[in-house]
Amino acid sequence: MAEPELVDVVVVGLGVGGEEVAGRLAEAGLTVVGIERDLVGGECPYWGCVPSKMMIRAANALAEAHRVNELAGSAQVQPDWAPVAKRIRAEATDTWDDKVAVDRFTGKGGRFVRGSGRLDGPNRVRVGDQVFQARYGVVLGTGTRPSVPPIDGLADTPYWTNHQAIEVAELPASLLVLGGGAIGLELAQVFARFGVRVTVIEAADRVLAVEEPEASALAADALRADGVEIHTGVKAGRVGHDGDAFTVHADGAEFTGEKLLVVTGRKAHLEELGLDTVGVDAGQRYLPVNDRMHVTDGIWAVGDVTGEGAFTHIAMYQAGIVVADVLDHMRRTKGGPDASGTASVVGGAMSAGGSTVAPGSFPVADYRALPRVTFTDPEVGAVGLTEHQARERGVNVQVGYADLTSSARGWIHKTGNAGFIKLIADADQGVLVGATSAGPAGGEVLSALVVAVHAAVPISRLRHMIYAYPTFHRAISDALLALK
Ligand SMILES: Cc1cc2nc3c(=O)[nH]c(=O)nc-3n(C[C@H](O)[C@H](O)[C@H](O)COP(=O)(O)OP(=O)(O)OC[C@H]3O[C@@H](n4cnc5c(N)ncnc54)[C@H](O)[C@@H]3O)c2cc1C
Repeated sequence: MAEPELVDVVVVGLGVGGEEVAGRLAEAGLTVVGIERDLVGGECPYWGCVPSKMMIRAANALAEAHRVNELAGSAQVQPDWAPVAKRIRAEATDTWDDKVAVDRFTGKGGRFVRGSGRLDGPNRVRVGDQVFQARYGVVLGTGTRPSVPPIDGLADTPYWTNHQAIEVAELPASLLVLGGGAIGLELAQVFARFGVRVTVIEAADRVLAVEEPEASALAADALRADGVEIHTGVKAGRVGHDGDAFTVHADGAEFTGEKLLVVTGRKAHLEELGLDTVGVDAGQRYLPVNDRMHVTDGIWAVGDVTGEGAFTHIAMYQAGIVVADVLDHMRRTKGGPDASGTASVVGGAMSAGGSTVAPGSFPVADYRALPRVTFTDPEVGAVGLTEHQARERGVNVQVGYADLTSSARGWIHKTGNAGFIKLIADADQGVLVGATSAGPAGGEVLSALVVAVHAAVPISRLRHMIYAYPTFHRAISDALLALK
C-alpha cells in the first residue's frame, strides 16, 4: 500500500464549490490537493447554468423577433440550432475539455489529481494508488447527479439527462420531458422555440411545484403559448423505446416522442465516498452540515451535496464560509492567528499574507434569503418563503400582489409583459419573509427583494422608498401597498 503523503487540505470534487475552496486555499499558500474525476468546474459550466443560459438567450432572441410583428413592423424568423450548438462547444465548454480550469487551479498553486477520491479514515483520502493525509482536513464538494425514477422500462432506454440535452448538435422533431421543475421548463421552452414538438409530463398537480401557485400558472401559460403541451398530475408508469421513438405510458394515456429527457431531480451519491471510515452515515439523502459547513471533525462539505439548495450561488456562498473556517481552524491548530504568515481571513473573505482576524469572526451560513431564478420567459425569481411555507411555519402572514401587465412599465412593454410581484410579510415583525418576482426581468428585479428579506428591512421603510418610473421593479411598491 502506498505511503500516505502529508498535505494541508484535500478537496474531493472540483465542481463550482470545490474548485472555489481549493483555489482560494491554494492561493493562501496551503498545500492543496484537488481531486476531480470528470471535468474541473463541474456541472454548471459544462452541462448546467452556462450552456443552458446560452440556449435560453438564443431562444429568447427568437421570441423577441416574433414580437416585432406586434410592435415595430414585421420580422421573419428562421430558427437554426447550429450557432447555438457551436457557441456551447466553442465558448462555453471547449468541447467539454477542462484544460483551462485545470490550469487555473494549478496556476494558483494547487495540485491536481484526476480520479475518484474516497475517504479512507480520518483526514485521509485515497485516489487510485495514491493516499493523501490532510493536516487540516478534507472538503467534500462532490455534487449531485440526475436522479432517475424507477419507472418500469426506463433504465433500458436511451433516455437523455441534462448532459445529452446540452450536448445536442441536431434537434429532434419531438421531445418528451419528464419533470416540470425549473430545469425541465427552461429546456422545454428553448427546444419549443426552435421548433421541436415538446410535451412536459409532471407528476405533481402543477409545474414549478416548489414555487408560488401563481408562478406555476404563469410559467405553464407561457410555455403553452410557445406550443408546449403540459400534462400535470400525471405519473409515468412505464417507458418503452422501439428504436425510433419513446412511449411513456401514464395513467391510461400514452405520450410519444423522438427523444425523452428525464429531469426529475438530482441525487447525491454518498455511498461512494467512504463516509463509513469516518463514522458518518452514508445512507442519508445529503450530507448534513452545520452553519460552518462541518460534517464532522476535519470534514467540510460544500455545494449541492449539502442539500441546502442546488444552485451555483449557494455553492459559492458556502465556499467562502469553508475557506474562512479552514483557515480559522489552521490558525487554531498552529496555536495563534495567522501563524504561518501565509493566510488571513477578513470578514469572510481571504487574502494572502498580512492581517490577522480573531477566530470565528466571519459570518456563518444563513439561508433565510436564498434566491432562486427559473430562467423561462417570463423569468420567475423567488426569495425566502412562499406563502404556503410561511403559513406552515405559523407566521402571521400578509400577502401583497401586483400584476405587472397593469403597471406602467408592463403596459408600455405590451407583448411579453406577463408577470407579477408577490410579497409575503410577517405582520408581527413588520418585515418581508419571502417574495416572488416574475416577468420579463424577474430575476433582476428580484435583487431588491433579496436585500429586503436578507436585511429584514422594515416594511414601513420599503413603502417610503423611491422607485424609479417606469421600471418593472416599481411594481414592488404597488405590491407593498396591497399587503393585507
Ligand atoms: C441544466 C442545469 C441548469 C442549471 N442552471 C443553474 C442556474 O441557472 N443557476 C444556478 O445557480 N444553478 C444552476 N444549476 C445548478 C448548478 O449547476 C449546481 O448547483 C452546481 O453545479 C453545484 O456545484 P457543486 O460544486 O456542488 O457540484 P457539481 O457542479 O455537481 O460538481 C461536483 C463535482 O464533483 C465530482 N465528483 C463527484 N464525486 C467525486 C469523487 N468521488 N471524486 C472526484 N470527483 C468527484 C463530479 O465529477 C463533479 O465535477 C443548473 C443545473 C443544471 C443541471
